Amino acid sequence: MAAARYEIEYRAARAQFGLLARKAGAVVEHYENSAARGPYGEALVTDVAWFGPRDARRVFLCSSGMHGLEGSAGSAAQCAWMARGVTLPAGVAVCLVHALNAWGFAHIARCTENNVDLNRNFMDFGRALPANPHYHHIRDVIRMTDVGPRSIGELMANHQRLTAAIGPAALAYAVNAGQYADAEGLAYGGTGPEFGHWVVRDHVLPKLAHATHAGLIDWHTGVGAYGEVAFLPTQGVGTAAWDRAAAWWGRERVAGWKRSSVEAAIEADEAESGLTVHKDGQLRFALARMLPHVEVTGAVIEFGTEKEGDFAKLALMTMYERWLRFVDRGDRHAPQHKAHLETALSCFAPDDAQWRALVLGEGPVLIDRAIAGLAAA
Ligand SMILES: [Zn+2]
Repeated sequence: MAAARYEIEYRAARAQFGLLARKAGAVVEHYENSAARGPYGEALVTDVAWFGPRDARRVFLCSSGMHGLEGSAGSAAQCAWMARGVTLPAGVAVCLVHALNAWGFAHIARCTENNVDLNRNFMDFGRALPANPHYHHIRDVIRMTDVGPRSIGELMANHQRLTAAIGPAALAYAVNAGQYADAEGLAYGGTGPEFGHWVVRDHVLPKLAHATHAGLIDWHTGVGAYGEVAFLPTQGVGTAAWDRAAAWWGRERVAGWKRSSVEAAIEADEAESGLTVHKDGQLRFALARMLPHVEVTGAVIEFGTEKEGDFAKLALMTMYERWLRFVDRGDRHAPQHKAHLETALSCFAPDDAQWRALVLGEGPVLIDRAIAGLAAA
């Protein structure tokens, strides 16, 4: 019998990435996270493939698996691009970073082995870390001891109560902006660089010593309507960086991707209240700080998976994930947790031919547009 999908994802993706990268002429480096292993005892490795001249002034960075369980889609987009054969414009190099959070990729989790959301971890830890002024509203609510299907009512009642009390933008800030104080909480950004941060800072970015311009696609899944692509540029609307991203991928698409009703409510409340959910620890924001002499253009690009009515399922899955780590503390791959892992995959890597066709079709096209834009910069 064929192995279940969730049993093979990371190892298969890693093997395919390595094979295609070498075939397409990349120099490939491997960085092993020796602090952890995969569910089958496999090494957890972030692979870095470099195409083009080492001294390129224009370098396009493209990362997958920042959020582990979203890794299969980003990996597939990277692989689909390489499978077409790699021909680069003069003076441009491409650096593909595969499985930034390899632990989460292999174990089907958003966060790292330390419960850190890697995309809240790109902070300068030599400076004071920001306080999340809204997190205290959810700190106790998320400490659920029962995460079975019956607890969904309690969770949604709390969500409704908090939405009414503090508004959608402040609640989104609490849940999502990142926090650096509750190590057993949500969107925890850590107290020092996680493995994936270290790979980027000490091994990827030093390769850009000659760069004057850098491009970025950090592949994610989740945000955006099911089967559509959502763009989260390196800077907000009205900035030169946003305009450059819009020129690469189309102003209509970058501005007008279809929001879910939950996202629309948050954006409307942000506009009204003036409270913006700023996720300081994201690589897309940190890159310009980490590369002070480089003009950075790009985005987190999300393959949307949101369907109306899925919100409760997603919220409970997040609670289950926390419960697995800090209450159950057992083997997360034990048979009784299979339904949880399958729900997690269905929310972030749906097993659906049409959705996969979006990833394989749009992925390489969006990469090519970024490279063309970078070459013309
Ligand atoms: Zn993500």
